[in-house]
Amino acid sequence: MSNPRASSLFLAALFIAAAGSAPARAQAAPDLGIKVRRLGPRAAVFNVGPWDNTYLAVATQKGIVVIDSGFSKTVAQAVRAAIQAEFKRSDFAFLINSHEHSDHTFGNSAYADIPIVGSELLRAAMLGFKSDPASIAPRLAIPEQSLARTQQDLKSDPKLLENPEAARGERFWKTVQADYAAGIDFVPPAITFDRRMTLNLGDVSVHLFSYGHWHSTGDTIITVPEEGLVRLGAILYGGHLPVVSGPYAPKGALTAAIMNNWIAVLNEVMAQADEKTQFISCHGWTIMSKAQCAPQVAYLERLWNEVRRAKAAGKTLAEAKQALPRVERFPEVAALSDAADGLPNVHEHNIETLWNAAP
Ligand SMILES: [Zn+2]
Repeated sequence: MSNPRASSLFLAALFIAAAGSAPARAQAAPDLGIKVRRLGPRAAVFNVGPWDNTYLAVATQKGIVVIDSGFSKTVAQAVRAAIQAEFKRSDFAFLINSHEHSDHTFGNSAYADIPIVGSELLRAAMLGFKSDPASIAPRLAIPEQSLARTQQDLKSDPKLLENPEAARGERFWKTVQADYAAGIDFVPPAITFDRRMTLNLGDVSVHLFSYGHWHSTGDTIITVPEEGLVRLGAILYGGHLPVVSGPYAPKGALTAAIMNNWIAVLNEVMAQADEKTQFISCHGWTIMSKAQCAPQVAYLERLWNEVRRAKAAGKTLAEAKQALPRVERFPEVAALSDAADGLPNVHEHNIETLWNAAP
């Protein structure tokens, strides 16, 4: 179902039908404007919300596997209903969490009836939500802050009122805010793994590679070779230079061992990919190719090697930065934007972060 309006009408019908058994809550699901894109005979990606989150579903012989739940329970329920409508089946088998951030896990309770899978790092991070609520206070404030910003935008540019995207954005944040106000039932994964895990689902296998401490504590890359899919964690984005340990990453966590593991995981995923492989980020409508991703991985590996070499040779950080200008030394990524995640100079940030991780 590619027409978003038809899809949301269908969803509304589903929800009205489902609400029949819950007398106190007989309201239609909000139209969140979920967009569906088919990636292959057994796979589709569902984009939703102002952050353009991507939720991936693979319909296998042994049930539907979903990657990431949603910002909140209602959002996740709407995505789940859209998946059901797209594949015309409801045999959900597993939910996989790619990392612990709110837009990927705070809707897990919509999948409490099926096994949830995630890395041990991710499970520990989610258990921390309960034991240390202060750690998620900034995440809980996101809907309110975003709503205030949206309403400010609408005030300063009334023309936006005619834009259905703006209205939908407002509706989205109100939905998430209401869910948070009602209280979040955090459901951490019951099935965990250390470095990697494979789910064998008949016609399709789903491979999980935990690499951690890139953009969150529990980052995981998920591949589905039979469908030619790689669901990147928040690690590589279309036109941006990759950010090593960005502003959302756990502070001070990066070590040489973690860095070596990243490079090994990324190289393994690249080696298994071919020119038809579709790389999907956690956010965004754009699908990347191996030709776009491989230079970014090569950049990371070469920069890591160069920084280590400079440090071992007794150079200072300033000397290393001077010796490693981006455009001249890394022409493979010269065309990429050097600003992301609010950082003005990603390349220098990367050198400094790798310098601190180097032995
Ligand atoms: Zn994230």
